[in-house]
Amino acid sequence: MKELSAPGLGPAAGTLLRIDLDALVANYALIARQVAPTEVAGVVKANAYGLGARGVCEALVGAGCRHFFVAQLAEAAEIIDLMPENARIYVLNGLLPGQERLCMQIGAIPVLNSLDHLAAWSALGEYSTRRLPAALQVDSGMARLGLPAAEIAQLIAEPQRCNGIDLVLLMSHLACADDPDHEANALQAARFDAIVAHFPDVPRSLDNSGGAFLSRPNHHDIVRAGIALYGGAPQFGRPNPMRPVVSLETMILQLRDVPSGAGVGYGLSFKAFGKRRIATIGVGYADGWLRQLGQRSSAFVAGIRVPLAGRVSMDSITLDVTDVPAEHLYPGAPVELLGPHQTIDDVAASAGTISYEILTRLGQRFQRDYIASPISAVQSRRYA
Ligand SMILES: *Cc1c(COP(=O)(O)O)cnc(C)c1O
Repeated sequence: MKELSAPGLGPAAGTLLRIDLDALVANYALIARQVAPTEVAGVVKANAYGLGARGVCEALVGAGCRHFFVAQLAEAAEIIDLMPENARIYVLNGLLPGQERLCMQIGAIPVLNSLDHLAAWSALGEYSTRRLPAALQVDSGMARLGLPAAEIAQLIAEPQRCNGIDLVLLMSHLACADDPDHEANALQAARFDAIVAHFPDVPRSLDNSGGAFLSRPNHHDIVRAGIALYGGAPQFGRPNPMRPVVSLETMILQLRDVPSGAGVGYGLSFKAFGKRRIATIGVGYADGWLRQLGQRSSAFVAGIRVPLAGRVSMDSITLDVTDVPAEHLYPGAPVELLGPHQTIDDVAASAGTISYEILTRLGQRFQRDYIASPISAVQSRRYA
């Protein structure tokens, strides 16, 4: 099974992305305590939000996680060999036309999102020696994926549509779980409960990370946690209870002093007011440091905030380091992009986006180190 990332040059990359699997496991345990006795599933789509699905899955398996969600069938194939006998991988995007046999061969569980999906899976199941496991997603108000109300009614009226299928999960997804005050949270839960009442013995799953931290009478049988596992704030405007999982440190490539009035970078869009000291680092938008971050975000040198000066280039960024004492400024000096002074949510806010996008765009040119303590199930190693 091939890791999606290129091997890279290790330390020669000049930028180190640390992925703390101990923190990930601690976050898993925290969510589990939060929603107990509900089980916690790991959402590991998009290469585990960019952090490396294989390393993340191995850590989660070690932590006791037995339910995994990916978006696409190919993502299930990448991790299936890591799964213990009693683990399940669900494919959120469901069955693409013609994919049914492959899905069965891989051993993934499709999330059936329509009566058409259901019919295709049921046909294959009736033809097989055993019923085929499936999750069924119903649309409780987000209007993205899942059976719409009319199809749900049709299915309830015609239960033989499930022939050949072993329904192992009923699920739906919340549109506004990151906003605990949003009325849609209770509304969607009520709709979901009304639907699942027609399927009395099938386990249920509604909440994602945000949902896990809503105060609810219950969190059903399985919570599907993504961003909170990776250290992102599950809800906006609330303190973040999660431990940070990623840190990103690079180094100064070059330093220069620019005179008052000088421009810096493409378009000369940064103008020096007074004499300024500029440091260039080797991370750019090709590494996922979004171009929107130019002029309105910061990095940290020796714990001192240094604003981005001018535009983000493909492979480099210029920083205004005038306020940093000279002893911290030299080629090779460390620069923090993500770490104790700046979280993924901070960077997301500066870019006008969400932590999910910051994580999933983190580039493939970094050295990636996975940290796991010897007592945890995973040893420290690189998944390259
Ligand atoms: C991505 C996704 C999740 C995980 O959401 P987080 O907000 O990252 O916890 C859960 N369920 C579905 C259907 C998803 O698409």
